[in-house]
Amino acid sequence: MTISTVPLNDGLSIPQLGYGVFKVPPTDTERAVTEALEVGYRHIDTAAIYGNEEGVGAAIAASGISRADLYVTTKLWNDRHDGDEPRAAIGESLDKLGLDHVDLYLVHWPTPAKDNYVHAWERVIELREAGLARSIGVSNHLVAHLERIVAATGVVPAVNQIELHPAYQQREITDWAAAHDVRIEAWGPLGQGKYDLFGAEPVASAAAAHGKTPAQAVLRWHLQHGFIVFPKSVRRERLEENLDVFDFTLTDAEMAAIDALDPGEGTGRVSAHPDEVN
Ligand code: NAD
Repeated sequence: MTISTVPLNDGLSIPQLGYGVFKVPPTDTERAVTEALEVGYRHIDTAAIYGNEEGVGAAIAASGISRADLYVTTKLWNDRHDGDEPRAAIGESLDKLGLDHVDLYLVHWPTPAKDNYVHAWERVIELREAGLARSIGVSNHLVAHLERIVAATGVVPAVNQIELHPAYQQREITDWAAAHDVRIEAWGPLGQGKYDLFGAEPVASAAAAHGKTPAQAVLRWHLQHGFIVFPKSVRRERLEENLDVFDFTLTDAEMAAIDALDPGEGTGRVSAHPDEVN
């Protein structure tokens, strides 16, 4: 099984499927990441606010896997945007992870009410120049935020990590990203279990047609759209199931039927809206 990679706009590339550790308890993170690495994941998505970077780092250190074969993302939390805080924050994350650089560093939320996301982006650009992050990007940025940071700096983020799943497809942002060579990372790719995605007819029938589970059909839908995903589970059998998505292809009709699950009214969102997180 080979995990596909996608090129980024900075000349680097990223494994298209990884393991996300949001809500993995700190005490269980080393075990869960160790199992993920054992079953074949090489891309880990964490964040300072998840409180589990140390567990990710411990699993990486114990794995014996070469640093060059791993892809690690972490994120700048909302209360570290100002002044020199981004530099201090990435230093703390790297210490916890036991790394001298991350592969991808993201501004976690734009916190628009504080109006400091342009400053945060300028500082994150400096972190890349200092070699502390190979690639840099943003998360939860709406089109207006993206346009503003690009206009201010001339630096286009490599990715925008946003809530995205068949019930909430965020087409305004994905269209902007396609036009500006920004890759989309889909968080909550399975709808965080808060929406009955797996019972939806186009998902269930596509899964049955390919002898796959509904979760695998949804992940395949993401991959065929070019989205980067890192589904979360703490169960080994689901870690394996979520990785086993590279041996089948959804037909154009199956893709279109799943596309149609979101009529574009923004009703399928299961988590916080970027304007509400400050
Ligand atoms: P997800 O859509 O990956 O859902 C995870 C839940 O789905 C699990 O708790 C489990 O109950 C269920 N699940 C997983 N595999 C399954 C399977 N094969 N069959 C049935 N159920 C299954 O949601 P998520 O964890 O929120 O998102 C994935 C990752 O995205 C996170 O771990 C994190 O790395 C990232 N994320 C980022 C942000 C952000 O603001 N940037 C926000 C949320 C999540």
